[in-house]
Amino acid sequence: MVVESIPKAAGFIYGLLAFVALIGLWYSGRFTRRRAIPFLIASALFGFLVFAPVFPYQLQLAVLGDTAALGAPVPMALGMLIIFIGLALVFGRIICGQVCPVGAVQELMYLLPVKKHGRAESRTPVAVRAGVFIVFLAAALGFSGNLLEFIGVPAFFHLAVASVSFFIFLGILLLSATVYRPFCRYVCPYGALLAPAASKALYQLRRTEACIECRKCERACPTGEADPDARIGECYLCGRCMEVCPVEGALVYGRSDKKIRSGE
Ligand code: SF4
Ligand code: SF4
Repeated sequence: MVVESIPKAAGFIYGLLAFVALIGLWYSGRFTRRRAIPFLIASALFGFLVFAPVFPYQLQLAVLGDTAALGAPVPMALGMLIIFIGLALVFGRIICGQVCPVGAVQELMYLLPVKKHGRAESRTPVAVRAGVFIVFLAAALGFSGNLLEFIGVPAFFHLAVASVSFFIFLGILLLSATVYRPFCRYVCPYGALLAPAASKALYQLRRTEACIECRKCERACPTGEADPDARIGECYLCGRCMEVCPVEGALVYGRSDKKIRSGE
C-alpha cells in the first residue's frame, strides 16, 4: 500500500514534528496514554503510506550502503540515525514510544484486551537482541544480507501478502497483542543502539519524594524497566506507570539524578 509518489521526506518531516510535539507533552507533564494514541495511529499510517520513518530499516539500508532504496546518501542517513541516538541520550526513547511505525503497530496491538505475558522480565530480551544485532551486522557486512527484509518489515508495510516474509512479520505482530513489543525488545538493531543511550538519558521518568512505594508502577510496566534495578534503557515511554500511580507528582518526567527508584 506504500504510495511511491509520496516522497519519503514526508515521513521524516512527520517524524520530526511528532518527536517535538511528544517532547512538549512529556516536558509539560501533559503526556497521557490517551493523548499518545493519535501519534500511534499517525505513525502506523505513515508506515503504510510512505514506509518512513522506519528507523530500523533505514539502519539496515545504511549498513548495506543501499543509496537507491534509502533515497539519500548513506552518510546523510547514518548522520540522521546517529542524531536520533544522541537525542535518546537526552530525552530517552521517544521515537520508539510513539514515532517509529514498527513500534507503533506493536503498541496498538498490545492495546487489545487479551491476556498479557512476560511482563516483569527484562534482561533476556536485551541479551537476545544483542545476539541478533551481531547476526544483523555479520549478514549485512559479510554477505550483503538484509535480515529485516527476511523478517518481513518492508513486506508488511507494503502489504506484500504474496510473500512469505509478510507472514513472518504478521506473526510477530500477532504475538505483540500478548507479549509487549517482541520486535523492539528481541530483534530491533536500532533499538540495540538506542537502549544504551536511553539508559543514561538526561530526561527520564523518575520517582519523587511523594512516592509511597506502592510499586503499582512496577506491576504495570510491560518491560520491567520501572524496577529500581533495571536501568537497561527499555523504557518505551508508554505511560502505563504514570497512569496507575495513585499519588500526583510521585512519578515525573524530568532531569534525572536517578531514574525510577524506590523512595529515593
Ligand atoms: S525499538 Fe526499533 S522498531 Fe521498536 S520503536 Fe524503536 S526503532 Fe522502532
Ligand atoms: S510503564 Fe515501563 S516502559 Fe512504560 S513508561 Fe513506565 S517505565 Fe517506561
